[in-house]
Amino acid sequence: MRFDILTLFPEMFSGPLRTSILGRARESGLLSINLWNIRDYALDKHRVVDDTPYGGGAGMVLKPDVLVRAIEDVKGNSTAPVIYLSPQGRPFDQLKAQELAQMSRIILLCGHYEEIDERVRVGWIDEEISIGDYVLTGGELPAMVIVDAVSRLIPGVLGHDDSAQQDSFQDGLLEHPHYTRPAEFRGMTVPDVLLSGHHEMIKRWRLKESLRRTLIRRPDLLEKKSLSAEEQMILEELRNEELNERR
Ligand code: SAM
Repeated sequence: MRFDILTLFPEMFSGPLRTSILGRARESGLLSINLWNIRDYALDKHRVVDDTPYGGGAGMVLKPDVLVRAIEDVKGNSTAPVIYLSPQGRPFDQLKAQELAQMSRIILLCGHYEEIDERVRVGWIDEEISIGDYVLTGGELPAMVIVDAVSRLIPGVLGHDDSAQQDSFQDGLLEHPHYTRPAEFRGMTVPDVLLSGHHEMIKRWRLKESLRRTLIRRPDLLEKKSLSAEEQMILEELRNEELNERR
């Protein structure tokens, strides 16, 4: 998969995109991440990329001529969608990450300062994505979040291809708890079932704990999910356990 990232601060990306899993995926050719400096598309002597807003007010607005030159150059004749990172965009989630992971190429535009010129939005942006209801100084961190979340869904990027499949949100639930050695740590033990070697029982325990977590922390997810017969049965069990505890 290929990501093209248009930014005023390409240096911000060097650590996160060169390290660990993403770094290895790039080295092995599974991922290609190209950084484009928006300032390179400013043609005047001082390479100005922004200007004051019409109508007055605080902050600077990224100039449409510079941005459109950059977008058109990077996009060329391709059909790759141009995604603008914006707090006003559709909230990013695992479903969106899965959708983007099916694409062969996406172009991410990072804003900065007050905003980009609205005409760029209207004419050259296919989609806007927000990483949450808060405002950051620029689109660089959101772009990194998207590259990371999407990349780990690309087959081969993670060590075990099924590990992303079991993660939280992947099937509409939060993931179950995990334990590793030692079996006893500061008086706290690992649930017996995980030491039993009984795969069917471990699978059921994990599903139950996953449902328990979701019920306690994110009941909204359960409302959206279509539950299997087994999941419904376990949820019933959990609700009865809760009732018994209250008594
Ligand atoms: N004035 C804009 C508004 O109120 O909607 C906020 C601009 S913000 C200070 C500067 C840039 O950071 C935006 O153009 C966008 O690229 C990026 N940004 C900030 N918060 C973001 C978020 N939650 N998700 C995605 N991008 C964000």
